[in-house]
Amino acid sequence: MSELTITGEKQQVPTPAAGVWLSTEGFEAAVGRVRADVVALFADHVHRSIWAPPVIARDVVARTGYPNSFPHLLGEVSTQLDRTDLMLTAAACHHAYPLIAESVLSTPFCIAVEATCFRNEATAETGRFRSFRMQEIVFVAEPEACLRWRDESMERARQWLTGLGVDATVHNADDPFFGPGARLMRATQRDQQLKWELSAPVGDGLRQAVASSNYHKDHFSSVFGFRSQNHHTLHSACIGFGLERLALVLIARHGPEVRTWPV
Ligand SMILES: [Zn+2]
Repeated sequence: MSELTITGEKQQVPTPAAGVWLSTEGFEAAVGRVRADVVALFADHVHRSIWAPPVIARDVVARTGYPNSFPHLLGEVSTQLDRTDLMLTAAACHHAYPLIAESVLSTPFCIAVEATCFRNEATAETGRFRSFRMQEIVFVAEPEACLRWRDESMERARQWLTGLGVDATVHNADDPFFGPGARLMRATQRDQQLKWELSAPVGDGLRQAVASSNYHKDHFSSVFGFRSQNHHTLHSACIGFGLERLALVLIARHGPEVRTWPV
């Protein structure tokens, strides 16, 4: 009988599908440490936490607008016979908005969602996964408070990584929008500073975005109809953490033994 040996500095095992990896026990311990740190980082903000499966209602995804902007990344679930009413989750926060749809919220309202996400990435360099876990914190409040939270939460994340000895930097970013309007949408996103990314070294001499925050303005509150008690317009923002990417960052910085990492 041959013995299955799984080795490798990153403790992830490639599969025949590009950008799809298996985790060893060691890597899973690293993911667990990252998850615990992120949860602790926002424990004073979060009112509710939910854990989502890798699939989401097609109707919800349509309402987010994601299919128009990122049809090249979005996956749908089909049987061998037909389409189903499900899509693959592309962003964990998409599971949060139906929970508060058409409701009156006392603000600020903050919810954490973890989901296994899928994005059909065209490349598969270190840290770029097609299937990965994302922990997202979604914040709903009046516009000024929302923008302030977006900036503070990104700074909180940066300080956490810096405190762990990681060379983490925050920068204004844009998304890989699809189609003829892509350039304009990217420019608008940059000019209005709607998206910030925190990037860090993931190994192999590469840096990747390990967290990103988006300020949605009233996009989701108008689409999903959540509002405040005093009828003021609510805005939303989210910050998402790529758990596997962050595990790679900490393994690259401190080695594969999680118990030797700084607390
Ligand atoms: Zn989000």
